[in-house]
Amino acid sequence: MITLELLTWYNKEKRALPWRETTNPYSIWISEIMLQQTRVDQAINYYIRFMDHFPEPETLAKASEDQILKLWQGLGYYSRARNIHKAAKKIMSEFDGQFPDTFQLLKTLPGIGEYTAGAIASIAFNEPVPAVDGNVQRVISRLFGVTEPVNTTKGSSIIKGIAEDIMDKDEPGEFNQALMELGALICKPQSPGCNHCPMQNECYAYRKSLVTELPYKVKRTTSRSRFFHYLVFLDPENKKSYFRKRDNKNDIWYHLYEFPLIEADKPLSPDQIRHAFMENKLAFPEGAVLHHFSEKFIHVLSHQRIHTHFFVYHISKLKNNLNDWQIVDYDALHRLPTHSLTTRFTGGYNF
Ligand code: SF4
Repeated sequence: MITLELLTWYNKEKRALPWRETTNPYSIWISEIMLQQTRVDQAINYYIRFMDHFPEPETLAKASEDQILKLWQGLGYYSRARNIHKAAKKIMSEFDGQFPDTFQLLKTLPGIGEYTAGAIASIAFNEPVPAVDGNVQRVISRLFGVTEPVNTTKGSSIIKGIAEDIMDKDEPGEFNQALMELGALICKPQSPGCNHCPMQNECYAYRKSLVTELPYKVKRTTSRSRFFHYLVFLDPENKKSYFRKRDNKNDIWYHLYEFPLIEADKPLSPDQIRHAFMENKLAFPEGAVLHHFSEKFIHVLSHQRIHTHFFVYHISKLKNNLNDWQIVDYDALHRLPTHSLTTRFTGGYNF
């Protein structure tokens, strides 16, 4: 009953989205990865642009990481883009260019976990496996009154078991998408539209007035503060600056470009910045004169709050091979893949 009502509602109400016009596994994969941590309306343009540039695994595998990161710029969670690149290379080298066509094989690709493998396998290959994302967790928890926290192993395994039990085995892709769509359009985290929900009669949370309580979640770690000081060394006459590529695999924004950075556990003054250069065994460019000190930019990520200032220095000539920095034209500040803190500064500064 639940399944039939859900599918009937989905067929009538589903949104027309570009990745719903195909069952091509490559297109579904790209859309699913983009939609993790990203709203649908924001992802659409990125998806169209990405598919224009890289219409199949082969072109993606041959692209440079910089090209891919540039197209991803602004979506955040850049490890997704790097994993897509690695997975495309693996498809070419180990699967002879053919997209893996089972849930188990899909999980062998970098960046593809249970959820994404379930989505691709069910939508593109009709394999009856669940695809449980946050929307599905919430819908099932409310519909069936699951009181185990959904972000624990036990809770997620209960949800997955229910999703398997109620799945329409003839139309697993449609079924999985219907559950997700109900979560996205009606059974929302805040103020769900129970009054026009097709599942109202069957819904445990609605009957027991538990809609605002469910799903239960275990509270995770709190956010930490970081203090970034970007040093923007500009040679205005030759329109050049220093840029560097982030090189710590275990930190945010790996392989994106940015201005030279001093990180500290508190905000630093210009004098303290010079001192920090010595402590970090970096050479401060000779003849650099402080020209501008930016307002504070705050950037909030899931577990971090980054407090940032940009210190703009003018200098008559940039020296080659200073620290690990590259000399780039002003144009490159916009052309290379950067994170949104850099973009916010370069977009508003009059170079
Ligand atoms: S009745 Fe309300 S809580 Fe239950 S599934 Fe529908 S929207 Fe969600």
